[in-house]
Amino acid sequence: MAYCKKYSAYSYIKMKYYSLNHNAPKVSFQEALIQGLAPDKGLYFPESLTPISSDFFDKIETLSNEEIAFQAIQQFVGDEIPEANLRQIITETLCFDFPLVKVENNIYSLELFHGPTMAFKDVGARFMSRCLAYFNSDKKGAKNTVIVATSGDTGGAVASGFLGVEGVDVVILYPSGKVSDIQERQLTTLGQNITALEVDGVFDDCQDMVKKAFLDESLNYKNLTSANSINIARWLPQMFYFFFAYKQLKSENKPLIFSCPSGNFGNICAGIIAKKLGLPIEHFVASTNVNDTVPRFLEDGLYDPKPSEATISNAMDVGNPSNFIRIQEMYKNDLSEFKKDFSSFSFTDAETEVALQTIYKNSGYIAEPHGAVGFLGLKKELQNHPNSIGIFLETAHPIKFLDVVEPFLNVKLPIPTQIESVLNKEKLSIKIKTYEDFKAYLKRNE
Ligand SMILES: *Cc1c(COP(=O)(O)O)cnc(C)c1O
Repeated sequence: MAYCKKYSAYSYIKMKYYSLNHNAPKVSFQEALIQGLAPDKGLYFPESLTPISSDFFDKIETLSNEEIAFQAIQQFVGDEIPEANLRQIITETLCFDFPLVKVENNIYSLELFHGPTMAFKDVGARFMSRCLAYFNSDKKGAKNTVIVATSGDTGGAVASGFLGVEGVDVVILYPSGKVSDIQERQLTTLGQNITALEVDGVFDDCQDMVKKAFLDESLNYKNLTSANSINIARWLPQMFYFFFAYKQLKSENKPLIFSCPSGNFGNICAGIIAKKLGLPIEHFVASTNVNDTVPRFLEDGLYDPKPSEATISNAMDVGNPSNFIRIQEMYKNDLSEFKKDFSSFSFTDAETEVALQTIYKNSGYIAEPHGAVGFLGLKKELQNHPNSIGIFLETAHPIKFLDVVEPFLNVKLPIPTQIESVLNKEKLSIKIKTYEDFKAYLKRNE
């Protein structure tokens, strides 16, 4: 008798995650989410990437965003969250639009900033917080502490995504004086289960403190969880954007090039996952500011991280992009294979300012510095792909960078309601300088 596989839209498998340092046990989705980083300091990576059926891509334009997201993420969650709960988490995550706006012939801006904090990180933060709340729902009293370093937008998105989530305390570390006023307010004014630590240093200092806390055995009992883009539950849902763009552009029948303004390279890495799941993407461009570790790597094959430099696209001021190792894993460290799918270019603040003005002059579109860097990388790559459509990701609303955008474009931006609600609230932060200060804060109630 032939073996007939029972039809099921939901595959009852368990995805395992392995450490990219290959010296730690494989873990479940839940364990990878809660641990953040593996015990051997490696980032977790899914053991398999199974392409979605061609049927899905044939009818994608008829599917809702929620259905697309469910089909894309389900193999990574497996049976650890029941289908109905996972669908509910996705619905709560995707509570806003992802419009594609035509900026020039064959160039589109994919606007990812219509969420509660007006940054694309809202999607990952909302998805992760709700998964964590699901896993916590059967535990009584055991608290998780989520710690996160931010160079700009992560903090606000995590603060908003986790606000009021039961059983979770959130501690955000941000570099003093290096985030915009609106960004700072978004992460320092919420209160409740959210605390902001203002670090006398740069973003990399914040990130180092977070990494150190995870490796600190004397803090094990604190149930620390990371909400940086290294966390699989924040990183993976970012693949949705690429599916949503494809859905809107499929009828054009042209190859698609995506340019991601890149800092920690989580977003673009999720895009590559989407491609591995079968999404037809011709080429990726990682566009960076002068923090150009990856563009230099593509030129000479040497991965040589440097301390980060401050720029006007501050959410990308990252000297040692943590997700890059995941991208290398997908290309088995084969630089020539990698370069077939991927380019990376860096741009100065002066070039970014000119791009902002050019976009505005030619099409009346108001971008912000991160999107403008993405636009520049896209333009450069499109020279090699004359018949393709290019999409740059607009990762934040221009209002979040009004100090740059208003004077350069000579415009006055109306303040959206999401931002207005934090502007008059009082900033509350705790100043720290060293890892010991951070640790003392975590142990404050003992
Ligand atoms: C975080 C962020 C980026 C960089 O994204 P990565 O996934 O870290 O590469 C780009 N733009 C904005 C506005 C961001 O907040």
